[in-house]
Amino acid sequence: EAFNAAVASASELNAFIVTTPDHALAAADAADAKRAKGEDLGKMGGVPIGMKDLFSTKGVQTTAASHILEGFTPQYESTVSQKLWDAGAGMLGKLNLDQFAMGSSNETSFFGNVNSPWKKDGTNAAMSPGGSSGGSSSAVSARIAPAATGTDTGGSIRQPAAFTGICGIKPTYGRCSRWGVVAFASSLDQAGPMARSVEDCAIMLEAMAGFDGKDATSLDMDVPNWETALDADLTGKKIGIPREYRMDGTDQAILDSWEQGKAMLRDAGAEIVDVSLPHTKYALPAYYIIAPAEASSNLARYDGVRYGLRDLPEGAGLQDMYAATRAAGFGDEVKRRVLIGTYVLSAGFYDAYYTQAQKIRTLVAQDFEKAFAECDAILAPTTPTASFPLGSLNDDPLTMYLNDVFAVPASLAGLPAMSVPAAVNPDGLPLGLQIVGKPFDEQGVLNAGLAIQ
Ligand code: GLN
Repeated sequence: EAFNAAVASASELNAFIVTTPDHALAAADAADAKRAKGEDLGKMGGVPIGMKDLFSTKGVQTTAASHILEGFTPQYESTVSQKLWDAGAGMLGKLNLDQFAMGSSNETSFFGNVNSPWKKDGTNAAMSPGGSSGGSSSAVSARIAPAATGTDTGGSIRQPAAFTGICGIKPTYGRCSRWGVVAFASSLDQAGPMARSVEDCAIMLEAMAGFDGKDATSLDMDVPNWETALDADLTGKKIGIPREYRMDGTDQAILDSWEQGKAMLRDAGAEIVDVSLPHTKYALPAYYIIAPAEASSNLARYDGVRYGLRDLPEGAGLQDMYAATRAAGFGDEVKRRVLIGTYVLSAGFYDAYYTQAQKIRTLVAQDFEKAFAECDAILAPTTPTASFPLGSLNDDPLTMYLNDVFAVPASLAGLPAMSVPAAVNPDGLPLGLQIVGKPFDEQGVLNAGLAIQ
């Protein structure tokens, strides 16, 4: 009954593309059986979670929220989801997202917008849960799932977490295997947990992370016991405040919550220091060259031959089938990215755009390296604004892209970064603060997050 009630409210939010109650119940039964025998339940024993529909799940439709993958049922399980099942978790269903994880509002899904459970005080307009992991943020925030997986290429765990008042961590690039995750921009894509608390994120990340020989960029490092080492005492730690993140147009409520976050970290024993990340303003434009470039290459595989949709017009040849399938199967935002990506990789423009963007990526990474000589972690807002009504930014892709202005630098540098709920703005909407850490220092990020949450 409780599950059916949850499914009913989930369908109002449109958070799930498919539900898989049997999967979750089997995990609960397995946990009960282990408990009865006095056996160890595993890190996630019996916990029902939502799975972003970007992770391949054996025998369960996997769509990346695109028409082109509708009806595609993988014969294999992604490494991350397999690790979660091995740790005892069960799956409530596949969560809605922006199509191919391209978006910041969950409005590019073929399966419809996802609604946030939050509303602006005194209004009834449906609000964005953020994107691309908007099904994950919405379901966790609405208490339909205690936790969910997300993926973050340029903010897609952190921005939706901030918009819905939950926690989400993108670990160091390479911590979680990309094997079996539908690829968007492979040099940036990274999976991570979204949950109600820093503690839950620590537990779930331990279950998700670890070396995988099937992913060439997987980190060959042991997974630390992040949960056991959680410690909100930050005595002796220095937290950097990047001056370039004070941008025109940032909401006053966000600046206020940043001040509050600093005060909390100071109370926890940390010293607050000024740092500079001078190439910050170039990060977003560079991201919107690199990510589409990689996407245009990754999405070449959707040709009507191998997966999901095939559009074969009467009397058509192979080229016509490719064109018809891709025209019918991809949404507008996906097509925009493929066009931009193909353009910046083409012979005449490669050096002017792609090579320059890669140079900027290196400069952004060097900015962080220098800043981390002076501090242990960085504190900044997660987003420049709170959530917005669905539909309000549809004609304005550039403003939409600006949502990730504070999130993208850590993605380009491959650094661990987390959003924790920080405050509620005067409209009654949640705001998040972001902690960015040194490479492999998820512990430092989680500990600072613990001091703020
Ligand atoms: N919103 C950003 C984009 O549209 C980031 C998406 C993501 O991290 N998957 O590319």
